[in-house]
Amino acid sequence: MINTQDYITSNKDRFLNELLNLLRIPSVSADSKYNDDVVKCANTLAEDLKKIGLDNVEICQTKGHPIVYGEKILDEALPTVLVYGHYDVQPADPIDLWTNPPFDPVIKKTELHPEGAIFARGACDDKGQMYMHVKAVESMLAKNELPCNVKFMIEGEEEVGSENLGVFVKNEKERLSADIILVSDTGMLANDVPSITTGLRGLSYVEVEVTGPEQRPSFWSLWRLCSKPYQYTM
Ligand SMILES: [Zn+2]
Repeated sequence: MINTQDYITSNKDRFLNELLNLLRIPSVSADSKYNDDVVKCANTLAEDLKKIGLDNVEICQTKGHPIVYGEKILDEALPTVLVYGHYDVQPADPIDLWTNPPFDPVIKKTELHPEGAIFARGACDDKGQMYMHVKAVESMLAKNELPCNVKFMIEGEEEVGSENLGVFVKNEKERLSADIILVSDTGMLANDVPSITTGLRGLSYVEVEVTGPEQRPSFWSLWRLCSKPYQYTM
């Protein structure tokens, strides 16, 4: 992988600029006002995947935001890695807490990041990590050092519950078949402690609505309530 490392070193500035361009697209999946930007981000990413030499690159439409797919199958006998990531981001509110505009990335040195870090919405969730995989594959492909098959599945709805990902995965079982799924949308123990998350428990969102008396209950209404449990809806 020495050649790959050389390629990364000599292309580092370009890699960085390409990531900054991706961060400038406000691909906020939760707000329909940004729908065109979400599409623009999917298109930009698909173009990038084509440019680095992936095959069968496709912007797969769903009932919501599209999923970007691309693959490089070198040899059916080799193991296949499926990279998952997302190109959508959280809304940037509250805007006034930002020290730089959220979609105008800056590189700053801070106490926590003495070597400098990119500050922008989506920089570390998940455009940065996702793009790292894209650039790693680009580097290995450019130097003929890719040791396995790769597939990319980058969705645009992670921040709104991945509602259509399940349907896509079910329908595309064959296309997505892999030996390993690589997800870099997790956490690290500390900046200087590289961490591998080996399991995810997931999240569940529940809204509980409790219905009860509007006023201080009279003895008889209290009696009725006590003899019948509170109603709740989920
Ligand atoms: Zn994420």
